[in-house]
Amino acid sequence: MVKNQIEARGITDPKVLSAMRKVPRHLFVSDALMDQAYADHPLPIGEQQTISQPYIVAHMTQALQLNPDDRVLEIGTGSGYQAAILAQIVFRVYTIETIRTLHIKARKLFDELKYSNIVTRYADGTNGWKDESPFDAIIITAGAPEIPVPLVQQLGIGGRMVLPVGGRLTQEMIKLYRDEEGIHQAKLGGCRFVKLVGEYGWDKK
Ligand code: SAH
Repeated sequence: MVKNQIEARGITDPKVLSAMRKVPRHLFVSDALMDQAYADHPLPIGEQQTISQPYIVAHMTQALQLNPDDRVLEIGTGSGYQAAILAQIVFRVYTIETIRTLHIKARKLFDELKYSNIVTRYADGTNGWKDESPFDAIIITAGAPEIPVPLVQQLGIGGRMVLPVGGRLTQEMIKLYRDEEGIHQAKLGGCRFVKLVGEYGWDKK
């Protein structure tokens, strides 16, 4: 998987490549889909949600420019795979999921795999995790109609944020960077994610 799908498409960060080699992706999908776990596409994880394609996970992780001391916030735990990849690279991962069954399943798997630097929460992630902010990096793994304001506020100086923004079906991957002067934005290409719900997602009033 790593050589043909990840390295071949230009992912070069050794920390990302090593994390992708370490985490057993087949444990993050159902028994029925285990034989497809390392294939080049997303897979259903129940509750109409999906685990992202391996390349997308690698691409977003590399874009976060992670350091070993970083504290990272993820919105959309899902299967827990992306959080597990982050946890190989950084000091601590905070991940929020809004569907209770997925939250519980991921928590159990993190415990079984002894990924002790992942902190989980069952909540609407679009409000972020104020008590633990500011974060060095924030990743949203569901498609947002616009950039959720509370998350930008919880990004520290020097912080990076990666998220898909756009319509319900297709989005543009956006990278935000905060420095002393303010927020800078770059576009990283088209993508397709399930919907970000919640107060600053598709359910906004
Ligand atoms: N990172 C996941 C991909 C999950 S798909 C993985 O590696 O498997 C996106 C997930 O985002 C879904 O589980 C969905 O329920 C969750 N989600 C959507 N809106 C959310 C919100 N407002 N807060 C937290 N999680 C949300």
